[in-house]
Amino acid sequence: MATGFSEQGLRIHDEVRRFVEHVIAPNEDLFYQQLAETGIDGYPPILERMKGQALERGLWNLFLPHLRADSPGTPLSNLDYAPVSEMLGRYSFGSEVLNCNAPDTGNMEILNLYASDAVKQRWLAPLLAGEIRSAFSMTEPDVASSDATNIGLSIERDGDAYVLNGRKWFSSGARSPRCEVLIVMGKSDPSAPRHRQQSMIVVPRATPGVSIGLEPHVFGFDERGGHPEVVYRDVRVPADNLLGAEGDGFAIAQARLGPGRIHHCMRTIGVAERALELMVTRSLERATFGSALAHKGLIQDWIAEARIEIDMARQYVLATADLMDRVGNKAAATEIAGIKVAVPSMALKVIDRAIQVHGAAGVTQFTPLAHLYAGVRTLRIADGPDEVHKMTIARREIRRYASDFHIGR
Ligand SMILES: Cc1cc2nc3c(=O)[nH]c(=O)nc-3n(C[C@H](O)[C@H](O)[C@H](O)COP(=O)(O)OP(=O)(O)OC[C@H]3O[C@@H](n4cnc5c(N)ncnc54)[C@H](O)[C@@H]3O)c2cc1C
Repeated sequence: MATGFSEQGLRIHDEVRRFVEHVIAPNEDLFYQQLAETGIDGYPPILERMKGQALERGLWNLFLPHLRADSPGTPLSNLDYAPVSEMLGRYSFGSEVLNCNAPDTGNMEILNLYASDAVKQRWLAPLLAGEIRSAFSMTEPDVASSDATNIGLSIERDGDAYVLNGRKWFSSGARSPRCEVLIVMGKSDPSAPRHRQQSMIVVPRATPGVSIGLEPHVFGFDERGGHPEVVYRDVRVPADNLLGAEGDGFAIAQARLGPGRIHHCMRTIGVAERALELMVTRSLERATFGSALAHKGLIQDWIAEARIEIDMARQYVLATADLMDRVGNKAAATEIAGIKVAVPSMALKVIDRAIQVHGAAGVTQFTPLAHLYAGVRTLRIADGPDEVHKMTIARREIRRYASDFHIGR
């Protein structure tokens, strides 16, 4: 297994392991019971209680490598954070308990890096404290958004304000009453060079002109906070809400997505571990044709392959996290793209086999497997489809042999 964790990292790993074992895991059923009572966008009281316990122990905001001195929590390197994120990823609400949940993590990072002091005070501080949630609003129903230069929502300067007009969707979490702020990407100068046309801006959810439209479900599951369409009609926000300078939007999106992608992969390793655990326990409990499923060579093959593939994927993620710490996110772009393709596919294979071992029960709501499968399947599209990441990797690989090679243009 990978070495190189810091002493602080190893200590935090132990603390998080104990916290997951004694606080998160035993409260999973209660969380879902309370969610059924509060409704999908409600806030189960047990979540608030667990968050309080995590904050008390300093197990908070662990994802942010450069935490401000006056913020709650303990900053970790990407490498030290990886096992933490994996442990939390086993539970759908695990990351939220430690204030390490998407999309708030990515949003906090870019607010930290690019927002004015006043905007940080107004929006970053309550996000770091876990008091509010946020959404990231880039994808649009009307254009192929995997090429972010297609984004069409307009951001126009008008005196001391910017005015937004356009339509987004899959702004994850935006339907939640706790979601008080959106980070929106749009086009501020259609005449600028292709990657300088876009800007990113902070939009308080309560601003007149912001409304929720379509509410897409994911394979039939309605998720907490949803992935709604958000309509922006003559939405006016102060010019100070712009992140960075006009034209920085594309670069900021790239900066945001690097850490966001590796966090997804770390959590997904946790999901795959959980599916393997369910596969093994079920194979010990069920017998066909005279022996438990665990005695069948074919099932043993699936179990062994799952163990090998999870461990290989984990090493790839850890090596990428280490690279990001040493050379920065931009220089680690190939590896980040690589894990974003490899890890969800690996986890889908493991979950699929775990479903198979469960027979009919595997596709029902009585095990977590169907929901896990749906969640991981979206990761082959969300934060960039596999094909786009492969294009990035292939372009870099081909350029080693033909330095002036361009794909598609
Ligand atoms: C569950 C979920 C949550 C999401 N959360 C958010 C969020 O919070 N905020 C947000 O802004 N967006 C979010 N998204 C949207 C996601 O990032 C986009 O769906 C994704 O970037 C793809 O854009 P698109 O849907 O417009 O697909 P398109 O751009 O229309 O692409 C369609 C397909 O074309 C293929 N393709 C594209 N380029 C190439 C290529 N170069 N070569 C070969 N094939 C190619 C791929 O198979 C791709 O899936 C989420 C999506 C999902 C499913």
